[in-house]
Amino acid sequence: MSNSKPSNNTRNIPHYSDNGQYPDSYYAASRNPKPDRPKLENDIHVEICVVGGGYSGLSTALHLMETDHEVVVLEGAQIGWGASGRNGGQIVNGLNASLEKIKSSYGQQNADFVGQLVTRGGKIIRRLIKDYDISCDLKEKNIFAALNNGQLKDLQKTHALWESHGMHDREMLDKYGMQEHIKSEAYVGGVIDHSGGHFHPLNLALGEAAAIELRGGTIYENTLVVDVEYADDHIKIITEFGTVTCKQAVMCGNAYLNKVIPKLTDRVMPVSTQIIATEPLGDLADKLLPTDVCVEDVRYILDYYRLSADKRMLFGGGTVYGGQDPSDITAKIRPNMNKIFPELRDVKIDYAWSGNFALSFSRVPQMGKLHDRVFFAHGYSGHGVTGSHLFGQILADAINGNTKEFDTFAKIPWIPFPGGRALRVPYSMMGSWWYALKDKTGL
Ligand SMILES: Cc1cc2nc3c(=O)[nH]c(=O)nc-3n(C[C@H](O)[C@H](O)[C@H](O)COP(=O)(O)OP(=O)(O)OC[C@H]3O[C@@H](n4cnc5c(N)ncnc54)[C@H](O)[C@@H]3O)c2cc1C
Repeated sequence: MSNSKPSNNTRNIPHYSDNGQYPDSYYAASRNPKPDRPKLENDIHVEICVVGGGYSGLSTALHLMETDHEVVVLEGAQIGWGASGRNGGQIVNGLNASLEKIKSSYGQQNADFVGQLVTRGGKIIRRLIKDYDISCDLKEKNIFAALNNGQLKDLQKTHALWESHGMHDREMLDKYGMQEHIKSEAYVGGVIDHSGGHFHPLNLALGEAAAIELRGGTIYENTLVVDVEYADDHIKIITEFGTVTCKQAVMCGNAYLNKVIPKLTDRVMPVSTQIIATEPLGDLADKLLPTDVCVEDVRYILDYYRLSADKRMLFGGGTVYGGQDPSDITAKIRPNMNKIFPELRDVKIDYAWSGNFALSFSRVPQMGKLHDRVFFAHGYSGHGVTGSHLFGQILADAINGNTKEFDTFAKIPWIPFPGGRALRVPYSMMGSWWYALKDKTGL
């Protein structure tokens, strides 16, 4: 092993703020203990290198370890530092793009293919929690909520479509049915999915990382990948202070990968979304969400919320195209929470944080190959808790020679953002204003 010189590309890659410390979130404050993992400072050789310590990378690495590969994971900050350690923790069975949308854009065959896959991600999560005894406050069921009759009608159609794809765990709720789960006057109806659920997202990521190590995998943290060199018989992953020479690599940096792989930069756009956590609510929590379900509404820019294990309301929403953090997260999100639960108007907000997801133009996540030996997956468009786990399994299967599902996903064409990199933010904002207006007026 020899020490390698820093790559010339380092100057183009933004470094992590706060040295890759977790943001000041409820999740970071209540996380399980984790080891301080080393930074890569040597040149090493390994069979497979996975870049990114979020669910996509962790699921890929763990499925590969379970099939006896030699794997190294490189994470620029810490495990779960990105969206996977900051998200709403909601197990939503489905992609952001609806099956109707997939059918109209990509045909019946692709819709059928996705339809028979979308509940698998949630099963993978439950299997990993059970097999590796991951302590992450898992709870059952989620609700899709409609704020007006137009949304409820759409939800009825969607429900019929889900049923036609064999998803029988879901049932329609009217206004009174909703109030058994959510003590709010805001909703006219919804759908409960008995196979949905919620959990502590950072603790799931930390548990998956521990499982990879238990199986003999190696994880380097604070190890920023700055470049990739492609050769016929190997791949070289260049980090700031070392290199990994491997037979195959999987790129799972999602919204945070930035400009490391220019070919991926234009395929997705970083978008930030924010969450606030109230102080613990005691008995009031059980009054507001008596069955402890998690909830998201069906608007384009949606509210999503649930209770934490210590009975805080974790309330999320908002989007900033381009991925910046708003200057005052509480001022932005709190009014949305007060609208749904006026009882929370005066409670203290203990934590407020923001995180980036990767939006694809079609809202269908993407996987593919950059080279014979380099795979990637990203673009879950804000609904990636289950999708990233599913994609990790599909990527591992592909590396193991079972490429059927990988090939089908890889063939779904990706659609560039109108206006390219320069104009995609303003164009997307205009689009979202239109959808927000539709949501508001119930058109
Ligand atoms: C606030 C928020 C709420 C959300 N709520 C939900 C929800 O309730 N349900 C749901 O289904 N989805 C939700 N999502 C989306 C979901 O969290 C993501 O789709 C999913 O976690 C993506 O996982 P990932 O591993 O692909 O990306 P990430 O978790 O972002 O992981 C990527 C990792 O790669 C690392 N990385 C990037 N570049 C480099 C590099 N050059 N070198 C080394 N490492 C690098 C990053 O540091 C990061 O840790 C939410 C997202 C956010 C931000």
